[in-house]
Amino acid sequence: MPNNELAVTTTGRREMIDLTGRMQQAATASGIEEGICVLYNPHTTAGLIINEGADPDVQRDILGGLGRIVPADYPYLHGEGNSPAHLMAALTGSSVTVFIHQGRLQLGTWQRIFFCEFDGPRNRKLWWKIIAG
Ligand code: ZN
Repeated sequence: MPNNELAVTTTGRREMIDLTGRMQQAATASGIEEGICVLYNPHTTAGLIINEGADPDVQRDILGGLGRIVPADYPYLHGEGNSPAHLMAALTGSSVTVFIHQGRLQLGTWQRIFFCEFDGPRNRKLWWKIIAG
């Protein structure tokens, strides 16, 4: 495994988990002062996003809004029965990249990094790498 792993255990069917603190710890432990941090989600029914973390209602609105955008009653073909989770994963994406400056993740004032579970609860793993430069 060429990358570092981050284990994430989800407890709900759909939820957002703030990974910012863990990724800042990883950045600090790397000793890299200037570079980029890439975080990748190898799952097809979960997403990764950067969005507001100050008001938890934003997370509820994102999950609720995705639930409205992605219909539950569409005649999906996928036999596993979790096509809405696959669509939500497609909408939210599989990776985020954040600059590191002076050892700190460079996020906007209100930004946090979120793992988005759409088909939980599950034990998930993410891959990350910090590249100096
Ligand atoms: Zn599926």
